[in-house]
Amino acid sequence: MIRRLTSSMPPIKKHFDYLVIGGGSGGLASARRAAEFGVKAAVIEEGPWGGTCVNVGCVPKKVMYNTAFHAEMIHDHKEYGFNVELKSFEWSHIKRTRDAYISRLNQIYANNLDKSKVDKILGHATFTDNREVEVNGNKYTADHILIATGGRPIIPNIPGSEHGITSDGFFKLEDLPKKVVVVGAGYIAVELAGIFGCLGAETMILIRRQQVLRNFDSMVSKAVTENLEKGGVSVKKETQVTNVTKESDGSLTLETTHGTIPGVSCLLWAIGRVSNTDQLNLDKVGVRLDNQHNIEVDEYQNTSAKNIYALGDVCGKALLTPVAIAAGRKLAHRVFNNEKNQKLDYTCIPTVVFSHPPTATVGITEEEALVKYGKENVKVYKTTFTPMYYAVTTAKQLCFMKLITFGPTEKVVGLHMVGHGVDEMLQGFSVAIKMGATKAQFDDTVAIHPTSSEELVTLR
Ligand code: FAD
Ligand code: NDP
Repeated sequence: MIRRLTSSMPPIKKHFDYLVIGGGSGGLASARRAAEFGVKAAVIEEGPWGGTCVNVGCVPKKVMYNTAFHAEMIHDHKEYGFNVELKSFEWSHIKRTRDAYISRLNQIYANNLDKSKVDKILGHATFTDNREVEVNGNKYTADHILIATGGRPIIPNIPGSEHGITSDGFFKLEDLPKKVVVVGAGYIAVELAGIFGCLGAETMILIRRQQVLRNFDSMVSKAVTENLEKGGVSVKKETQVTNVTKESDGSLTLETTHGTIPGVSCLLWAIGRVSNTDQLNLDKVGVRLDNQHNIEVDEYQNTSAKNIYALGDVCGKALLTPVAIAAGRKLAHRVFNNEKNQKLDYTCIPTVVFSHPPTATVGITEEEALVKYGKENVKVYKTTFTPMYYAVTTAKQLCFMKLITFGPTEKVVGLHMVGHGVDEMLQGFSVAIKMGATKAQFDDTVAIHPTSSEELVTLR
């Protein structure tokens, strides 16, 4: 049932066992799982169902990544014997089909709530007290309240920054811009610069330091930075934008710490995200924030206020869809199914950056391992090779792999890869690593030939 106030209706007052603020990855998963335990649950959402991942994140991004993947592979078709000619690429076509796909997903998410008998409440939620939330003048009380309000992109505080877009604006673009500048060095900057570059925009990425993905293993940062450059994306290092001017022809001129960049058709800020904690009245209910405006939670997703929980991006830790979903489900099991010890283990979370070629990583980096265990207790295995896909192509992309082991048993504590197909390779290996596999157990596994993943069980 959808609840919305119209002027002729008296304000609604309704009580639930579980009230979830935010119909994104974490909120939806938690509400539906709670409903399986017979709990009377409702989700409040002010935007489209599915949240960031479905509407302006993972899903439309992956469609565009796949589009860019076609652009990359199309150059190899001739060398594989196909007589094909690339005549044109229509951004508006893929945007249309992508938007239609997202609309179908929004509907599926709404239907799933109905099937689970979870109430849907549309509008912006604010706390009025510890047990009560207001939406459009209606009051909803609950025994347990979950905050899963996610986050939004940061726009820097510099003159003219409003002329730039963020990842949200990327998904509204009707055409491929001619000349793009992406500012930032994390997941989003790397992924979106890669997509623009592969699809033929003149693309530049501005980074504050020497490399992108600085917090990843050094092998990854180096390889991904070099691959951007090899793929035609101009990487401007140690550069920051100081001023943006919109010219009469609509183009942007950027002043940077290293000179002027004129004629920019699209400036995209990808410098991180901030949690949606500022419009909830949290101070009124005693929910404590950290100094980055994220909600502070303990390992069980409890906030500082009794029976108010928080999870997903709003907590500022491991901003990934499967993390929000897993935390949401575990919380439902703990609170509503008497499984007192259920909580998400935030260690060993596998993650992929959809760079070109992709990056896949789980566990700790070599740099972290050396600090944590000491040089004498760490053994690292590495390989660099050309995947067989490139056997007959002129263009080649190297594959890099690194396995980090600890102690005399050589327990695998980190795996880092950049190369063709590693995005689909990581999930299985991360099961083994989570189970505590050793290098000897990797080696005991018979290889699959000819694949790139066989390298991981034959490392010397
Ligand atoms: P969200 O999904 O953001 O949901 C929060 C919801 O709360 C939103 O729908 C919002 O409208 C609603 N809301 C906020 N405040 C209120 C309020 N006061 N009242 C009512 N509703 C409110 N992760 C991956 O794992 N893989 C990827 O490939 C990936 N790609 C990404 C690409 C991009 C461009 C971005 C931006 C993110 C990507 N992520 C990816 C991250 C992923 O999208 C997030 O980690 C995930 O969506 C977090 O889920 P959540 O439930 O915490 O928040
Ligand atoms: P990230 O935190 O990943 O990266 C932002 C980077 O921008 C920082 O690491 C920093 O790098 C740089 N930066 C920060 N401030 C500035 C500034 N003022 N000027 C220039 N550069 C700056 O944030 P994203 O927005 O890229 O992504 C948010 C999160 O969403 C990710 O961390 C990830 O968890 C999730 N995500 C996941 C994806 C996936 O799973 N494939 C895809 C997209 C997002 P430095 O310090 O080196 O300058």
